[in-house]
Amino acid sequence: MNTRLRSLLTLTALSLGAMGTGRAVNSFLPRRLATWYEPQEAAVHKDSTSFPKVDISFLRCGSVSVPELIAVRGAFSLAPRLISHSAVLVRHPKATFLYDTGMCMDISLYMRDQSFFFRNVLGKFSFEQSLSSHLQYLDMKPGDLDFALISHLHWDHVSGVPDIPGVPLRINRVEYDAAQQSSLVQHHNLPRQLMGDNPVELFDCSGPSYEGFHSSHDLLGDGSVVLVPLPGHTAGNTGMFINRSNGSRLFLLGDAAWVSENYLRPATMHPFIWSAVTSDDATACQTLIDLHHFSHRHPEIVLIAMHDAQAQESFMKVEKSSMAHVR
Ligand SMILES: [Zn+2]
Repeated sequence: MNTRLRSLLTLTALSLGAMGTGRAVNSFLPRRLATWYEPQEAAVHKDSTSFPKVDISFLRCGSVSVPELIAVRGAFSLAPRLISHSAVLVRHPKATFLYDTGMCMDISLYMRDQSFFFRNVLGKFSFEQSLSSHLQYLDMKPGDLDFALISHLHWDHVSGVPDIPGVPLRINRVEYDAAQQSSLVQHHNLPRQLMGDNPVELFDCSGPSYEGFHSSHDLLGDGSVVLVPLPGHTAGNTGMFINRSNGSRLFLLGDAAWVSENYLRPATMHPFIWSAVTSDDATACQTLIDLHHFSHRHPEIVLIAMHDAQAQESFMKVEKSSMAHVR
């Protein structure tokens, strides 16, 4: 039996056991999210020539394949969807930094003390390449990084930190405060162990509304990298816009979605996963609805969720071909 089918059967059996047959069947049906209200957004004219040249690379460290109906509730498809564990390397004239951290070389040691259920369901992945190996390949040392910006404090977003000892971790204060009682102590303190002794630098999204999101933080002070709150998955899940001199604009979503269909339809993941990883259902659904409207208003901006392997690969293909073109 292939791994995908086995994981589907395991999930189905768990759903049946936990919820009863009627609710389990219902869990695969679409859940209607009200999208009729579309907020208006003040038109802002941005002159891309004022933005710097910024290099962006997704560094994929691990992945797991799940059937589409698990990644997208109501998608009646068993087609495999690759859920990736990645870091994003951003090379900006003012700072070289990561958005999330992928996975460290010793991740299996950190997973050793976890339960069988965690290692085989929520924490299941195939290791591909460590963060340190990616950095070495790029001829970089951890010390070349000014900081790592963490989208939120779930274990899989700080699991590369042991490969970058001493590099400051920039974290949304809302996320850090909420995580003291929840995320950081999950799975026998796994996120806290992974963060080790790296210094923590807190920031506030207390700047003006940005692109329809109610507040922001201009990370480098020049409007090229702007953080916005995308709450619900966790209290302080933080998205990041990158605006570049060539006019291309990228919006990283943390875990506000797993794959693009989550905001395009919009649809949550299967409730078995959704309820296990979401801190506030109503807020997380509202964020999906906000992203749904945003993506329709801004087809020119590339939105990428941190586990969406397909979107990350497509972005890197375009990125590589445009770099080859420049050379
Ligand atoms: Zn995640």
